[in-house]
Amino acid sequence: MNDETLFEEAAELLQQADALLVCAGAGMGVDSGLPDFRGNEGFWRAYPALARAGLNFTEIANPRAFAQDPELAWGFYGHRLQLYRDTVPHEGFALLKAWGERLPNGAAVFTSNVDGQFQAAGFDTVHECHGSIHWLQCLKGCGRPPEPADALRPDIDETACRWRGALPRCACGALLRPNILMFGDGGWDGSRYEAQAVRLQSWLRRCERPLGAWAAEIRVAPGRVAGSNKAPARRWIGPNNEPATPGDPANRPGPSGCDPKGAESVVAPLAGASSPGCAPRLGSSPLGSQRNPGFLPPTLLVVELGAGTAIPSVRRFGEAVVLEGGGRLLRINPREAALPRSLGLSLPMGALAALRGIEAALQRDDQRGG
Ligand SMILES: [Zn+2]
Repeated sequence: MNDETLFEEAAELLQQADALLVCAGAGMGVDSGLPDFRGNEGFWRAYPALARAGLNFTEIANPRAFAQDPELAWGFYGHRLQLYRDTVPHEGFALLKAWGERLPNGAAVFTSNVDGQFQAAGFDTVHECHGSIHWLQCLKGCGRPPEPADALRPDIDETACRWRGALPRCACGALLRPNILMFGDGGWDGSRYEAQAVRLQSWLRRCERPLGAWAAEIRVAPGRVAGSNKAPARRWIGPNNEPATPGDPANRPGPSGCDPKGAESVVAPLAGASSPGCAPRLGSSPLGSQRNPGFLPPTLLVVELGAGTAIPSVRRFGEAVVLEGGGRLLRINPREAALPRSLGLSLPMGALAALRGIEAALQRDDQRGG
């Protein structure tokens, strides 16, 4: 199948969807110029001082590194914090956001990336399953909740990969560390991310809802392309045949479970809380299980981007959502694109190239009168 055909098929999946779940791994950030730390060679090219110290990614991304050589560990994380702050999310983030805004249930994100790029791009419902570099926690686990890293101004000797000046300290006097799930990390405070997980589950349950009150206001337009054998695209039409604005909260079903301030306003429990579950807890009713003549069933599209198999949290989550809740999976991955056809469609390429290709296919479709 050539790329154009893949883009057309992917665009069709998107046109048939009610909701967009973005599942992103490190490959999503590569097109913004971020390193993905794939393999020692790439990692050490990005951080030659760590090559000289003989430390690989799993050894520096480790709470032990903060205990043993805090200036070096903070040199690594301080550099990354500044890098992520300075990085502008690539165009693919805006495309995903725009697509989500056209769907009745909008978009949500599940990501292992700690860089905060989805929030920077304006996404509200984001579950960062490995935490965030923009938050800090006590290395000793004194019980104080995580705090934002906003006031932290990294001053790094990049040649030596070492933090200059006073290290960040908790109010208890112990060292602060990034609120990220590291390797061999028994002390990660996952409370912020549990709150994010709750919001994501609430969104998923809303997507899973069989056709409800809002569906009565949203009808599928008849076939729109004369002579086309494609399925008619969904058109969101209000009760008086005016185009509905699915992204408008007024058109959304029920009270929103997605308070944008929810995650931040939650008072975090004490450190040592269990890590957030990565498996979705969907109800027993699969998406679209209750068909209604004249209506298409609600359909969730999972778009997985740059999620590898080495640490498969993101792949597993997206697959589980589709297997347990219904919907389709669009896997975008230049190296590990294998996917059973029954689950969806695979695009063996980078994130930005794929998203641009799909957008172009959507625009061609619109121009044909779709
Ligand atoms: Zn403390």
